[in-house]
Amino acid sequence: MADRSEIDDIRARTDIVSVVEQYVTLKRAGRNLKGLCPFHNEKSPSFQVNSDLGIWKCFGQCNEGGDVIKFVQKIENLSFQEALERLALAAGVTLSRGQNQYHHSAEPNERDRIYKVNALATRYYQDMLKRSPVAQEYLQKRGIAHAAQEAFLIGFAPDAWDGLVTHLAQQRVPSADAELAGLVSKSDRGGYFDKLRGRLIFPILDVQERPVAFGGRLIEEAKPGQPKYWNSPETPAFVKSRTLYGLWRARKAIAERGQAVIVEGYTDVVAAHQAGFENVVATLGTSLTEEHVKVLARLAQSVVLSFDADSAGLQAAFRAAKIFEAQEVEVKVLDLPVGEDPDSLLRAGRRQTFLEAVEKAVPMVEYRIRQLVRQMPHDTDNDRIALFRKALPVLASVTSVIEREPYIRILAPYHPQYSYGAAYAEDQIREDVKAYQSGHAGSDGAVQHAPPSGEMDAHRRPTEPAKLDATGVAEHELLRALVSGDPELSLYVYGSIRPEAFFSVDARAIADRLYTQYVRTGAFNAAVLVSELEDAGQQNVLTALLMDEKAPLNLKALEDSVGHLKNKVDNIEREKLRERIDSGNATREEMRSFTLLFGKK
Ligand SMILES: [Zn+2]
Repeated sequence: MADRSEIDDIRARTDIVSVVEQYVTLKRAGRNLKGLCPFHNEKSPSFQVNSDLGIWKCFGQCNEGGDVIKFVQKIENLSFQEALERLALAAGVTLSRGQNQYHHSAEPNERDRIYKVNALATRYYQDMLKRSPVAQEYLQKRGIAHAAQEAFLIGFAPDAWDGLVTHLAQQRVPSADAELAGLVSKSDRGGYFDKLRGRLIFPILDVQERPVAFGGRLIEEAKPGQPKYWNSPETPAFVKSRTLYGLWRARKAIAERGQAVIVEGYTDVVAAHQAGFENVVATLGTSLTEEHVKVLARLAQSVVLSFDADSAGLQAAFRAAKIFEAQEVEVKVLDLPVGEDPDSLLRAGRRQTFLEAVEKAVPMVEYRIRQLVRQMPHDTDNDRIALFRKALPVLASVTSVIEREPYIRILAPYHPQYSYGAAYAEDQIREDVKAYQSGHAGSDGAVQHAPPSGEMDAHRRPTEPAKLDATGVAEHELLRALVSGDPELSLYVYGSIRPEAFFSVDARAIADRLYTQYVRTGAFNAAVLVSELEDAGQQNVLTALLMDEKAPLNLKALEDSVGHLKNKVDNIEREKLRERIDSGNATREEMRSFTLLFGKK
């Protein structure tokens, strides 16, 4: 376990607001900052951060809270030690017994070794680009200006087997680290060789702007046996399904506009940023995953996909429609002129066309329906029947009857019975959708699971934390007094009631820790205690207390709370004794205490 004072030091030097703001857009609300909880889906903000206390708390569905370490742990899915180490690095605190001890993995510091070797490689590739007229010419032809090259740290790997290997050896960096990062491989003879050769290099940075991986594009198209695009393998520092290219530069713009544009290639991202579209990111040669969507959902409510109409990426996005819906992210699809992608449009100086396309992006369902109509023949009745066979599942995937209507109107002219009139065709489609849905009930479709649209909101409303009973309220108020910072109130509670008198397990544990802390340090320091508590439930209770903005405390109410708890203890004790007496099992001692304590009742 880390040294207590080091943990305190790290916490003191870390601004919780700036850490949280890397993931959540915060607005001031009273003495706290408010935003959308990154740990559950919600439309109105119930996530709060208090910078003075250094704590956060979700007052919505997940009802969780804690200090900055717990936040980093949860959001980055790290162990306590890993989160601590990350914050220590950022705060410039050196952990005394070396950082190795904080790792659970057998290979300590793998990530740090990868960051280091990647940073060296990035600079090396950038230098190589300056020395390669061919690579520079290529970038120039692609319209990537010098400023964008610098901004995206673009580089070049010469067509040599040992360029990086030699450079790293000169820097005294072990080749094994570069192998760990996926940049070099071991040859049969035991030496190492460069994996990236003759490629433009696009370093991939995480949101903390650390190089976690690389993308490489062949400069010469025809290289036998060499794929055009190359991506780093996954490493302890690089999880492909969670990483978006360009997010480190796009995050702010995405949060400001509430919208992210996702494209398919590195050059699309660079070209877009260069043209002033700074909310553009790319997936890394993978389909859009649930993790990507979650990352973006923390920043934006709307995502625009700019994928090739026939691309696997777009097909995967269609299949992922449920993920977007679950994250309450609206997905639209960019309908670019045939044969164009963002890069080609922007290179041709058609900035306005791209801008309009983003503004006119259509909802995913509409895009799919328009694509079907565009791509499938509809001359004969058989064509039309085939078209509707494909369109029905798309229509049925729209859970809201009202939202489905416009799509029915788009499709009506292609219905086999359109000759009987638009209204008749629309009715037929509605019937067909119903028939489709009942025919697919029980299968693994989205349709039968989705509640009717009217119920949707109620269904999603965050559950309120359980209402406290009178005892719960009394305990809450007493704990609140203990952490209030008002010595008169906290010492009254301390002097009036023992931790054992608290009924809830969490409340008793918190009281116990606070009392111990007071004995040891002469003060009740709740912010310190938040970080000391290992139990998530107790952390949640304590952060809720600290952020409670209810009525101010007063001595009279506290006396009542103490009285309530003491009464309850007495009642339980009396009942126990009465039971023992009634069953004839009471000792003489118990008989005496019963009459002494409760004789009158
Ligand atoms: Zn939450």
